[in-house]
Amino acid sequence: MTCILQLGPLSERFNRTLAAEHEVLPIWQADAEALLAEHAQRIEVVVTSARFGCSAALIERLPRLRAICSFGVGYDSIDVAAARACGIPVSNTPDVLNDCVADLAFGLLIDCARQMSRADRFVRDGNWGRAQLPLGHRVSGKRLGILGLGRIGAAIARRSSGFEMQVRYHNRRPLAGCDYVYEASLHELARWSDFLIVACPGGENTRNLVDRPVMDALGSQGVLINVSRGSVIDEPALVSALQDGRLGGAGLDVYVHEPQVPPALLEMPNVVLLPHIGSATEETRLAMEELLFDNLRSFLERGEMLTAV
Ligand code: NAP
Repeated sequence: MTCILQLGPLSERFNRTLAAEHEVLPIWQADAEALLAEHAQRIEVVVTSARFGCSAALIERLPRLRAICSFGVGYDSIDVAAARACGIPVSNTPDVLNDCVADLAFGLLIDCARQMSRADRFVRDGNWGRAQLPLGHRVSGKRLGILGLGRIGAAIARRSSGFEMQVRYHNRRPLAGCDYVYEASLHELARWSDFLIVACPGGENTRNLVDRPVMDALGSQGVLINVSRGSVIDEPALVSALQDGRLGGAGLDVYVHEPQVPPALLEMPNVVLLPHIGSATEETRLAMEELLFDNLRSFLERGEMLTAV
């Protein structure tokens, strides 16, 4: 039995299966310091998630650590450099969540343009027949900019064809053989776009990439959608762009200090707020769990991660 340090709870099903196969130390159920003082020398694998992360300090405290298996695709909360320096592989769960995150991004886009959440509140509040809901905006045929045309970004782009949208994208470098127009400048992409969807990774390299000039370029009719990480958008600048009417609207699944949402956003009718549910479907969460287990088993049996970051 492998001694596994689990940094946070996943589904009941996952926790049960992991505990049936291994000796699991659930750190959130214990006094973390006492648990590490007693067991740090024996821990061979850390199981974590994009939400719970894994710090360099923790990696340094585990002399027998051999692998880190993470649930989720983003690994900005895991100190991968520190793990690599110790020769410790890190796995994540890419691809299996592309469709659900892309579906959600498109749902946010349509909701922002057609005011579905706002209209739902309008009906529930008894305003139908008594007040007038302002007109929304058309989605079909519009210009869609994608920041981060990777696995999820490409799935978002594919969905746009059903809406006959034009697509352009910005990555650090153009994709070979890609039919969509590449914009070397994010600012120019925002200027061109009606909708800008953020689908690049979080972390230091992308912190505040979507800043005030980018939001101003997107403009008073433009809509910003974020399904990547809160850190990619300058959140105070987003709040003031929306307050000033320099940005038309926003659809957000992720925030800088989750689960906190900037209070000003709660009052805005042109903003749709979701609680980080990009991958949160029964089907996708099961596939993510299975991929984590596949990585763990593959590593323990053959020393190989299937989807190493
Ligand atoms: P991916 O396949 O690695 O794609 C990331 C894309 O971003 C690549 O096209 C990359 O292109 C681009 N990129 C990276 N750094 C950039 C930079 N500094 N400037 C411009 N573009 C940059 O990743 P993925 O699997 O699609 O996932 C993307 C992110 O989605 C994850 O990292 C995670 O944070 C987020 N996510 C969120 C949820 C949710 O629940 N909301 C769920 C899953 C994932 P270049 O390398 O050429 O720049």
